[in-house]
Amino acid sequence: MPCKSNEELYQLVTEARKYAKDGKVADYIPALGKENQEALSIAIHYPDGRCISAGDIEKKFTLQSISKVISLAYVLMELGKEEVFQYVGMEPTGDPFNSIIKLETLSPGKPLNPMINAGALVVTHLIKGDTVENRFQRLLDFVKEITGDISLTYNHEIAQSEFETSDLNRALCYFLKQHHFIDEDIEQLIDLYSKQCAIEMNCLVLANIGMMFAMDGYDPQRERQIIPKEVARICKTFMVTCGMYNASGEFAIKIGIPAKSGVSGGIMGAVPGKFGIGIFGPSLDEKGNSIAGIKLLEMLSKKLDLSMF
Ligand code: GLN
Repeated sequence: MPCKSNEELYQLVTEARKYAKDGKVADYIPALGKENQEALSIAIHYPDGRCISAGDIEKKFTLQSISKVISLAYVLMELGKEEVFQYVGMEPTGDPFNSIIKLETLSPGKPLNPMINAGALVVTHLIKGDTVENRFQRLLDFVKEITGDISLTYNHEIAQSEFETSDLNRALCYFLKQHHFIDEDIEQLIDLYSKQCAIEMNCLVLANIGMMFAMDGYDPQRERQIIPKEVARICKTFMVTCGMYNASGEFAIKIGIPAKSGVSGGIMGAVPGKFGIGIFGPSLDEKGNSIAGIKLLEMLSKKLDLSMF
């Protein structure tokens, strides 16, 4: 079913876009720095297949930290929660996503949750396979499976750019390896993680994933449980408690839906039982969340009374 552009959404986008100039496009991964600061688009995917949108919804962007929810779902399905949570905790940190500080001060080496980089790196390291190519292919096949989009791939330039500049992530990995939470070659892991973060899609496809989470892992269009309900529930809970990094508390108060952002400016939202949201707005606030995207969600949540609390 085609995604219809929607006048009310268009007005919200126009209003929210004004905030983009107050933020900054991420450039610590150099290839991300090329995005247009003013860009803002949104798609909403309903369980019955309807889709409404506003902005340049064909524009592709990389998932970055949004991919952490998907890799978590994947390893939970492959290994089970008992094993996964031996490697990573369930608590928010209140620190920036790439912080190292609590790795040393709390239960040495065990990352507090899978949404911060340290936790996500441990999760990615749990993806089984003989080679980076093979492990990445399994993850990508999983993304294809949950989206139903077999053309999905990753952005080579952005993956390479992250690989070349990931010294902080390397530092986290070496710390984790010293404490036996990672057991593999770190260059290999950074390669796999950089590719995972560079998986690319547009906000229509992202909204479709959000819808699947909103429906507890069930895709009503394909009449199939894509991921087990319990896995979807765990992922959504992490989205509420840690999905917007150290802005998750404020986001829960102001917007009140499970959501996950990435430094590319993407946000995936899952409004329980109702619909999925995909947003792209690359101008970021100081915590690394899409500044206009958050404004847009705030207006939308107020208008449609979306808060689950
Ligand atoms: N690839 C990014 C990194 O590890 C993801 C971070 C993010 O989106 N917050 O730095």
